[in-house]
Amino acid sequence: IRLKNRTAELAAQLRFEKAEAEAARRAAEAASLAKTRFFAAASHDLRQPLQAMSLFVEALRRRPQAPEAAALVHGIDASLESLDTLFGELLDITRIDAGGVEPRPERLEIRALYTRLRLHLEPLAAEKGLALRFRGERHLAHADPLLVERVLRNLLGNAIRYTDVGGVLVGCRRRGGRLLLQVWDTGIGIDAQSLPRVFDEFFQVRGMRAAPVPDGPGLGLGLAIVRRLCSLMGSEVRVRSRPGRGSVFSFTLPAGAQTGW
Ligand code: ADP
Repeated sequence: IRLKNRTAELAAQLRFEKAEAEAARRAAEAASLAKTRFFAAASHDLRQPLQAMSLFVEALRRRPQAPEAAALVHGIDASLESLDTLFGELLDITRIDAGGVEPRPERLEIRALYTRLRLHLEPLAAEKGLALRFRGERHLAHADPLLVERVLRNLLGNAIRYTDVGGVLVGCRRRGGRLLLQVWDTGIGIDAQSLPRVFDEFFQVRGMRAAPVPDGPGLGLGLAIVRRLCSLMGSEVRVRSRPGRGSVFSFTLPAGAQTGW
């Protein structure tokens, strides 16, 4: 009987090891597929502005004195800018994934953060006639100011980009020992099917991988970076949305210790 038990035990162990090896093989395969997709999408996005530029250069070479020369140079400028953005974002993702971004938490006044955000984003909102409001500026967080600002600039940039009427509201309130930060917009919203995928690399709801233009649709990397930065800060970014009504993106930060009276 003992021998029989031992044989069964060995067989079970063997099955377990086989299943483990199979799971590891599948995980490696999925990782490799994800990498291939990542490079395919990146190469695609890199080629578009390059191809546009070579058309513009060709046209300039043929007729350097043509009246449309200034417009062609402008087109080259725009392509260069989108290449710069794409390389910057790819570099950000690679650096974060390689462990090269270390958060440096410190006492962070939400009021000061809002001041910096206003400076950068008010002109964009004003250009579209959108209201941009901030709430809860009396709070204090314990977080890396640069990382928080990058997350919020990304979320606010999107909120403004995908909203045509109404406005954008940034909120901050206390929830337990943490602060809940939210960016609300009254924009086009995101359909339920796309919602779980908006944080994926290169994902864009309308699926049109148009050549990125300054302040136009981006490359679909912004929210992938936001997700990584939030996770570096021990948080998770979430989204709720109603098509045609608007969206709200939320994440939390550790609350700072209130000093003073
Ligand atoms: P992009 O550079 O295309 O804005 P993101 O990663 O920042 O890339 O966002 C991915 C996609 O999610 C966008 O292309 C857009 O379709 C959708 N999206 C992001 N933020 C919003 C928002 N506030 N309202 C509606 N759609 C949004």
